[in-house]
Amino acid sequence: MTDTMTKAEWQTRAERLVFRTQPFIDGSFVSSSSEETFAPINPATGREVCRIAVGSAEDVDRAVKAARVSFQDGRWRKKSPLTKKSVLLRIADLIEKHGDELALLDVLEMGKTISNAKAELGFSAGFFRYYAEAIDKLNGDVIPADISTLAFNLLVSRGVVGAIIPWNFPLIMASLKVAPILAAGNSVVLKPSEIASTSSLRLAELATEAGVPNGVFNVVTGLGKTVGEAIGRHHGIDMLSFTGSTQTGRRLMAYSGESNGKPLLLELGGKSPQIITADMRSNIKGMVSQIMHEAFWNQGQWCVARSRLIVEAPLRDALVDALVKAAAEVVPGDTLDPSSTFGAIATTTQMERIQSYVTSAREDGARLLTPDFPVNGCFMSPMIFGEVTRDMRIAREEIFGPVMSIHTFTDFDEALDLANDTQYGLAASLWTKDLRRAHQAITALDAGKLTIRSTPGATEQSGFALASEGWGASGFGAEGGMAGLRSYCRLKAVELVS
Ligand code: ADP
Repeated sequence: MTDTMTKAEWQTRAERLVFRTQPFIDGSFVSSSSEETFAPINPATGREVCRIAVGSAEDVDRAVKAARVSFQDGRWRKKSPLTKKSVLLRIADLIEKHGDELALLDVLEMGKTISNAKAELGFSAGFFRYYAEAIDKLNGDVIPADISTLAFNLLVSRGVVGAIIPWNFPLIMASLKVAPILAAGNSVVLKPSEIASTSSLRLAELATEAGVPNGVFNVVTGLGKTVGEAIGRHHGIDMLSFTGSTQTGRRLMAYSGESNGKPLLLELGGKSPQIITADMRSNIKGMVSQIMHEAFWNQGQWCVARSRLIVEAPLRDALVDALVKAAAEVVPGDTLDPSSTFGAIATTTQMERIQSYVTSAREDGARLLTPDFPVNGCFMSPMIFGEVTRDMRIAREEIFGPVMSIHTFTDFDEALDLANDTQYGLAASLWTKDLRRAHQAITALDAGKLTIRSTPGATEQSGFALASEGWGASGFGAEGGMAGLRSYCRLKAVELVS
């Protein structure tokens, strides 16, 4: 990987990039049964990135058959834990070796900045390393029984796992699904988002180079309503792991119910809060960049965006002034310029959706506190709205864009009530120096992932070992950590009676 490339050098790299554009089935790129193609559009330039095969239900069927054969004959599943571990570690090495290329693919298709895409590589490689190391540390339980019985729970692979991912962190999402799926000995059929498919295709190719046997890791490109639905309804898929919208997650529940009842892991939308208590007054300067990061990272296009700021009244004006000033300085920039930190919104459709929320906020009486910078193609600046009431659409619905709303509280119970006044429960942040309030919030907040801080500043945090599970409309099933590995295993009860 190169760390010192200039914008011109990235542009040259981008022009020379070779795109993988066909489904990856049984260890190689194959022609789709449909002749059609679709084109992801670079939102930063409005230009076609490449043309990708529109996969079909037939392609899904082919991929499932290849995955099934590979699972049945055990060419991956039956490998020793140490062999599997070394293969996953090699995938992580290859992600780093080809990091510039993988980062560029995500930049061109979904408009994040090259500096962010490069920073994200550490997560993708990290998931493979974490799950590589986890393979020989996951064990079942021996259960107390009478003297003539040996009773134990085995953790066995689930079989063929379908994985459907969104476009916001294409390579990270593919890695977060595929690493534990493979670590648990399964075979996988992955469907990337039609908006950003090429890093998944390249990842599958690199995994094969690393030693994943043919048929174990398949990718079918294409649309949600054809390829996605075919995966959701396929009788040969034993489990489905999905990240995306609540609406699609609920469709997948129906597909499962109407087909083979496959178990689901659903990581869906969010509308997450950040609560800030008045005792954080002396830390405003330090907090601002982290509050902004939690709300606006990836142009606000992440499911754990903590975009509802719930501030204790005495701190409100000082904190909001500092935030507005910082947000006004965020300039969306050329995505291939390494100095840009804020990129484009991924698609014109997504931009229209965000702007419809901005319009609704104005119509509902919220007040824009940041400068009213004009939208330029798929580029927009972060927006902060004050005078937001909890019934407004911008306070209730997931926007998936850089729009923050400010709420004020005088009583901590009111803050917790506001934070929980949502159908979602993915994440929540609390800034406080008050241990009693921190304690209260841990119990009271309905969210899968809580971050509680009393001081700003980076820490090493917990690496990859933390698992979380959404609540309400945010889905169910654990991702991350050892619990995330267990999600892709089935429990088998054994009684060995003499
Ligand atoms: P987003 O709005 O973030 O794109 P979606 O839920 O629409 O969220 O998409 C996430 C993933 O789900 C994408 O890979 C998309 O192609 C897929 N998808 C969309 N609709 C369906 C569907 N009806 N069945 C299965 N997958 C779908």
